[in-house]
Parts: sequence; structure tokens; C-alpha cells
Amino acid sequence: MKILQDLSPQELTALVEEYGEPPFRARQLYEGLMQGKTISEIPVSASLRQALLDTYADVPVRIKETFVSRDGTKKFLFELWDGNLIEGVLMRYRYGNTQCVSTQVGCRMGCKFCASTLGGRVRDLTAGEILCEVLAVNRAEGGTLKRRAVTNVVLMGSGEPFDNYDNVVRFLRNLTREGGICISARNVSLSTCGIVPAMKRFAQEEIPLNLTVSLHAATDAERARIMPVANKYTIAEILEACDVYFRATGRRYIFEYSLIAGENADEAHALALAALLKGKPCHVNLIRLNEVKERDLKGVSEKDAYRFLGTLERQGISATVRRSMGADVGGACGQLRAGYLKRKGGTV
Ligand code: SAH
Repeated sequence: MKILQDLSPQELTALVEEYGEPPFRARQLYEGLMQGKTISEIPVSASLRQALLDTYADVPVRIKETFVSRDGTKKFLFELWDGNLIEGVLMRYRYGNTQCVSTQVGCRMGCKFCASTLGGRVRDLTAGEILCEVLAVNRAEGGTLKRRAVTNVVLMGSGEPFDNYDNVVRFLRNLTREGGICISARNVSLSTCGIVPAMKRFAQEEIPLNLTVSLHAATDAERARIMPVANKYTIAEILEACDVYFRATGRRYIFEYSLIAGENADEAHALALAALLKGKPCHVNLIRLNEVKERDLKGVSEKDAYRFLGTLERQGISATVRRSMGADVGGACGQLRAGYLKRKGGTV
């Protein structure tokens, strides 16, 4: 099946014309889809509806289960039209609600601390499937196009966005487009494990979002112990690509650094990280490792995380410890899907 939500308004108009229907049908369709409606729910002519349903998935993404954390964070298990499962999170902040979306079913990057990659990559999501994660949650939370329940989006769920470049860029254009759900690029963050050519290419797309890079180490050798992608691209190349992004967009970039006991969390690591990033227009987000059962890596205490933060700050580096949310509902990437598949006796 194809995904109707992949299309831009112009493409939808051209499609509706092909079916011999007037352009206002395309506007009706587009508005309905952006409200999170299924094709069947949108009042178009019976013949157009049937023609569409022959080719396009009626429900590309369905919320299968919702888990509510004590802190108000909601975790969603989504079922795709072909039965594949993905997950997402909605976090409540003072400034709005941030949804974390998945960009692939599984992931092939192989990071040692991450649950999403345990079974490798199953398939890429299309632009419309990623968009439908947002549309489904906005609708389920009572949001409309005027009063959105989802105000911010982070591409930090399962999958590597830059391993699915074309679909992700198309998704970002559709997400930020006026007349749709229209979430400003400034309210969007994209996290990559550091695929350098894609980072440089993305700098030319004129989508000024918050570029976030999973660094997790200050030397290539230490990084390669936990992130196989480090064998392909060096930290020096990543920093250069970040500067290309900064020059193109004027947006400062963010590094994620998950603290793992015995790997990257000592005072010496903090000093090395500070030396590496000194003077760069960047911010460091320290994350306390969400321990994944299948992995034997251990996190650090809150006290140690703040000690690491203190060292960075004393060296003049802008940094924060990320508030951990939804840990009681399997907050970390890929944990929900992995848990579900296990309960059902399947493999991840
Ligand atoms: N593939 C992208 C985005 C997905 S992961 C990337 O690598 O950036 C979002 C962030 O969560 C990344 O920084 C990732 O390294 C981190 N992460 C994954 N599993 C984690 C875990 N168990 N504990 C802490 N951080 C984790």
C-alpha cells in the first residue's frame, strides 16, 4: 500500500485531478488528513474514496497501546498498516508538549547501549508514516490544527534519521508547511549518530531545526567501543559538519552525551570533552543511561551526573543534565517495542 500522507498539497491536487475530481476535493482531503482522519472518515465522493482506498493505506499508523507515566509522560505503541510496530513518547513541558518520533522500524547502527538496534533494521518509515505518528497523537490528545496538542517534535525515537534521508527531509517539509500541522522548524530537533555526508547535505536544505549529535565520547577510540558508526566517521569530521550546519543556518548545535559508568563518565572524560568543545557554538545534553536489560552497561548516579556537569561548566561549556521522564513506562528508545515483542513470544 502507498501512503497518502506522503504527499504535499500540490501533489494531492494533481492526484485528485487525475481522478477527474475538482481541486476543492484535494483541499478537503488535505485538511482531513492533517487533522489525523482516515481516508474513510473524510467526506469525499464515494468513487474517489474507493479509488484512494484501492491504493493507499486507510490507517497508516494506529495507536495500539498507550502507557501513562506518573510524571504525565505518555508512551505510545503504534501499529503500522503492515503490522510492524514502532513507538513514540509525548512529554509535557511548561512551554508545550514534545513528541518523540521514530524514523525507522528498528535500526542498523548497532549502538551498544540502545534497545532499538537489538534486532537490526526492519524497514524505513515513509515521510507520511512519520507524519502520521504526530497526526495520530495530536488527534488522540484532543488537538486540532489551530490548537495543537503536539507543539514540538524531536526525531529521537527508534531509527537513524540520516539513514532514511529522503523520507525524513520530506517529512520535515510536510511537518513545517503552512496549512498543515505547521510545527515550526525551531520547535523541531533531529538527532543523528553522526553520518557526516548527510549532515553536510542537510545544511543545504534550508530547514533550520535544532541539530543534535549523539557524541557519547571525546575520542574516536572510546566512541568506537560503544558506537560502531565511529569506525566510519571521526569526531573531527563530525565537528566540521556541525560547523557547516552552523554557518548555513546560524543555529547552534547540541551534543548528546549518555553517561555510562566505567566508559565515559569520569572526571578525565569531562575534561577531555570540554577541551574538545571549547569555543564551539554548542550545548551539551547529559543523559543518564537508561539501562537496557539486554545490555550489560550501567548508568551513573544523579550525583555523578551533576559532578560531570559541574566540570563542564567550570570549563566554560554550556550544558544541562536532561530530566529523565517516563522511566517507569520504558522511556528509552526501543524498550517498549522490544518488551511487547517479547511478551508476545516473538523476536525483536
Ligand atoms: N539515531 C539517532 C536518534 C535516536 S536515539 C541518534 O543516534 O542520535 C536518541 C538519543 O538517545 C541518542 O543520543 C541515543 O544515543 C540515546 N540513547 C539511546 N539509547 C539510550 C539509553 N538506553 N540510555 C540513554 N540514552 C540512549
